[in-house]
Amino acid sequence: MKSVDAHLADILATVRPLAPLELELEQALGGTLAEEITSPVPLPPFNNSAMDGYAVRSVDIAQVPVTLPVIDDVAAGSDELRAIGPGHTMRIMTGGPLPAGADAVVPVEWTDGGTVSVRIDRTVEVGNAVRHAGEDVPSGAVVLEAGTLIGPAQLGIIAGVGRRRVLARPRPRVVVLATGAELVEPGLPLGPGQIWDSNSFTLTAAALEAGADAFRAPTVGDDPAAFLEQLDAQLLRADAVITSGGVSMGAYEPVKEALAPLGTVRFEKVAMQPGMPQGFGVVGDDQVPVFALPGNPVSSFVSFMLFVRPALGRMRGLPAGPAETVTARVAGAVRSPEGKRSFLRGRLDPGGEVTPLRGQGSHQLAALASADALIVVPEDVTDVPAGAEVQVIRL
Ligand code: AMP
Ligand code: MG
Repeated sequence: MKSVDAHLADILATVRPLAPLELELEQALGGTLAEEITSPVPLPPFNNSAMDGYAVRSVDIAQVPVTLPVIDDVAAGSDELRAIGPGHTMRIMTGGPLPAGADAVVPVEWTDGGTVSVRIDRTVEVGNAVRHAGEDVPSGAVVLEAGTLIGPAQLGIIAGVGRRRVLARPRPRVVVLATGAELVEPGLPLGPGQIWDSNSFTLTAAALEAGADAFRAPTVGDDPAAFLEQLDAQLLRADAVITSGGVSMGAYEPVKEALAPLGTVRFEKVAMQPGMPQGFGVVGDDQVPVFALPGNPVSSFVSFMLFVRPALGRMRGLPAGPAETVTARVAGAVRSPEGKRSFLRGRLDPGGEVTPLRGQGSHQLAALASADALIVVPEDVTDVPAGAEVQVIRL
């Protein structure tokens, strides 16, 4: 049997970072910058007020209280500004450009708030409540390095330096395609022998959470030809495809039957539990990676976490490796088959103790839904006593 590490290594050796594209800001969230972002102007671009108050020459209010004429109003966005002469003030709003001649802002709270003249009760130092041009970003400075993941704040600075588009690796487009003659859409009644399709929802959501644009394709039954037809239709818009079901040793295994003959997708036994049958390879002219995951709900989810998630990271141009683990103490004894790496469902408490859950079958979706960690038991360990240290993958 192939090891978990060898299978991941094969996958990471095959998938490539997506080519960068010019993305509109609205499309760029979750992308990875493929260029350095610099600011063409200083930020802020001009000296402006940090508060609502009065622009003053600080020497004019060295003695307080003092009452001075208010010669104008400056709102954010004001232009054609007059200068402030000796003994004058202007009412100014947050973000309003500091008028020439003024060197400080007196917050409105330290005045009587007058509009024709204003009584000022406190002195201020030069520069009080003034935001200076370039104090956030000097002109020409780099604000984001290539390789940066674009989150909300990164989008903010890209827009804040005036860019409409960026060169970035986009979120991978992932199509999820579940197979199984027994599957019924949730919301429709179950017939004899049928179950509601859950994997396609889990896997689509997991791919979304992993930074992909994920789409759920219509489910297909156990006919390899129908599967190939659906796969073909979906390939057009896919940077990767995840299938569920139809990869094990039985009959009616449409994914395996359809893809194995292509010669570009390998179906193997990986030494893990759950999730032993795994398929991976590329299909189509564009060599789109296909992750053919087993159908048992826990198996497909664990397979996603171990293999697909890192691969999506690589496609996004991010550092990609095995799922991260943390050390915990296991609250109860657990067992694991010899020669396989086990991933048992557990709950991790803040004190670093992980409790194995009841219902460790690979079909037991409810236990998975109440788990927040996978307890990893190495291949050469069969019995883990209560209180032992284990590695866990947080979910
Ligand atoms: P398979 O890998 O197709 O042999 O399926 C293994 C087990 O997983 C069977 O009990 C299937 O009914 C179940 N299964 C397969 N696909 C799904 C799905 N999309 N949602 C929930 N269970 C599934
Ligand atoms: Mg099946």
